[in-house]
Amino acid sequence: MERPNSLSAVLHEIRLAGPIARIDLARRLGLSSAAITKLTARLLAANLIQEVGHAPSAAGRRPILLALNGEAFFVIGLDLSWQGLRGAIVSLDGRVLTDRKETRNLFEEEDDREIVGTLVSHVEALVRESGVDRGRLLGVGLVAPGAVSWHQGRMVAPTPPTMSLTRSIRRRPPFDWSHIPLAEELQARTGLPTFVDNNANAAAVAETWFGQHRGAKNLAYVAVGGGIGAGLIINGEPYRGDRGVVAEIGHTTVQVDGPPCRCGNVGCLELFASTVALLDEARRLITEGKAEALGDLAAWKGNLDQLTVEAVYRCAYQGNPACGELVERQVAYLGAGLVNLVNMLGCSLVVLGSREISFPMLEWLCEKVTALVRERAYAAAARYVEVCPSRLGADAFILGAATLVLHPFFDAPERVMGRAA
Ligand SMILES: [Zn+2]
Repeated sequence: MERPNSLSAVLHEIRLAGPIARIDLARRLGLSSAAITKLTARLLAANLIQEVGHAPSAAGRRPILLALNGEAFFVIGLDLSWQGLRGAIVSLDGRVLTDRKETRNLFEEEDDREIVGTLVSHVEALVRESGVDRGRLLGVGLVAPGAVSWHQGRMVAPTPPTMSLTRSIRRRPPFDWSHIPLAEELQARTGLPTFVDNNANAAAVAETWFGQHRGAKNLAYVAVGGGIGAGLIINGEPYRGDRGVVAEIGHTTVQVDGPPCRCGNVGCLELFASTVALLDEARRLITEGKAEALGDLAAWKGNLDQLTVEAVYRCAYQGNPACGELVERQVAYLGAGLVNLVNMLGCSLVVLGSREISFPMLEWLCEKVTALVRERAYAAAARYVEVCPSRLGADAFILGAATLVLHPFFDAPERVMGRAA
């Protein structure tokens, strides 16, 4: 990853590898011991890092270990979705502190002032509830599904949720927030620097900052829900494209004469591989009287709207053949989509995240998808492909939102140094 300067490089390295001794920092960064001593002294004086004990050593003096001071500053993450708005205060080391949710769906709000006003009051409530001093807040990161222009700080067209295939496809009125200068408005009204991005783009960054794959150079994060979105890390940096439409793997064609999709295309991947598609199929089997074959799912007969993806997965995991087929169908389509993705990008690491599938079930799904991708992707690279479950769970988007502010801060810490000392 390109580092703007040595101070930033040291801070990034302590974040990634800490607790770490000065001598190891020098080795990893190719800097002299004298330079490391000087740079870490500046970071210690600014209270951004701290000494946290000694490394074990066979002989001689045991070196002092340095770690990030996670509570030197804080950021605010906002996760906007069709389920509502979640906000959180997040520490520099990715701990979610104060958490605040409201179920109001801002995407159905027509008044621009209401949209901005709700976001601003959510931020203010978080600041009040957390008791964090305003001077220690670095900014606000806001994420949402669909086309979001990070460059312009605007949401171009938040995606409506996938329309169920078995119901008639309702085309919603064209959804356009591109006239609202969201980042600018929020910044003007809260006094905090504000950044916006697509939720899967941001979650991909969160995986390389706080997930199992810290420091990964190339990674694709794929969010499996009612829609299927992806975020890409290429050469250590998030790839953001030109117009806020990036890695829309859910809207790649897997059936050229398939059913119409809400995006305007036909036969899109998410029509077959999303959780909405899985639930539609399960409901169809139940209503067609095949509920007995679905084992435990039969109990949902009078309660179809409440049926959960987790229930279908659990039933399949316990060996029910009809539910197993539903999961295998999702695996087949998702696998095909990921074969296209890894063949095109040449990236070996894919992280699957989901708000609807629990970790053990997601792990099971990943094993199946990995096997399929390894069998079908371009042979020379296929055996290196790993499709891993995200361990960030429901926090992936909120942590991603936090990285929108953390990234520029770690790239140029000297801009706010002194404030936390
Ligand atoms: Zn589509």
